[in-house]
Amino acid sequence: MPELPEVETVVRGLRPILVGKTIGAITMRAPKSSIVVSPTLKLQQFEKLMTGRKVTGIARRGKNILISLSGHLTLWVHLKMTGHFSWVPKATPIDNHDLLIFDLADTSRHLRFNDYRRFGRLRLFRNDELWQQKGLVELGPEPLEITAEQFVALCHRRPRQIKQALLDQSLIAGIGNIYADESLYYARIHPRRLTTSLARAKLTELHGHIQRILRRAIRLHGTSVDTYTGVNGQTGSFQSYLKAYGNEGEPCERCGAKIVRERIGSRSAHYCPRCQRLH
Ligand SMILES: [Zn+2]
Repeated sequence: MPELPEVETVVRGLRPILVGKTIGAITMRAPKSSIVVSPTLKLQQFEKLMTGRKVTGIARRGKNILISLSGHLTLWVHLKMTGHFSWVPKATPIDNHDLLIFDLADTSRHLRFNDYRRFGRLRLFRNDELWQQKGLVELGPEPLEITAEQFVALCHRRPRQIKQALLDQSLIAGIGNIYADESLYYARIHPRRLTTSLARAKLTELHGHIQRILRRAIRLHGTSVDTYTGVNGQTGSFQSYLKAYGNEGEPCERCGAKIVRERIGSRSAHYCPRCQRLH
């Protein structure tokens, strides 16, 4: 699933394409589950509501994309597993999984939202309703915006396994499996360590690794380990620098022990059993 650096890359790719442009027409090819419209608006009106609106800005919050439209509406997009945007010539044959087609005024291209697995969501809300919605209202702070002090306080709030804490979007928003495993590897922390058992100094170190890794991954346009690509179809290149995630059975770069993959909750964790000890 795209995480903070991948979603940030998509947002940066969308801005020059969309901001300032007017939506000439929208074609909805999606099943009803993929497109959600606020109860105060109407789903049957989705195409009509979108048409003629100007895109005024695009922001990221956690793994969410927020496309601001004129008339106080926001198109809120979550890519989930395989959702992605492509910017293609209008003549490009329509794919079965192209769920939404944006026909922008004054361009020879379409912006298309394609989603093979169909877990992605496009939601249209009035701005005054947006931040009360589940999925946004409970989001924790952005990992690139909090201080080490604040991060330590979040972790020390209650005891839980550090890996699960990092994945909890209500604690901190934007980190997923890849960047959690990589950060814990660099900080030499076992994914099952309890947050409250980690000293302030260790958590400060982890905070530093999280920020460094996320910034580097953004510079490299994210990690393409599955289907993720940017808006222009370009893959990210952070996958060449992964030390733990996806490396099970490979030797740890520091000590040579084999990286293991272990189930924790509903997710798997990759770590070095020698460098990242539980006790
Ligand atoms: Zn090791």
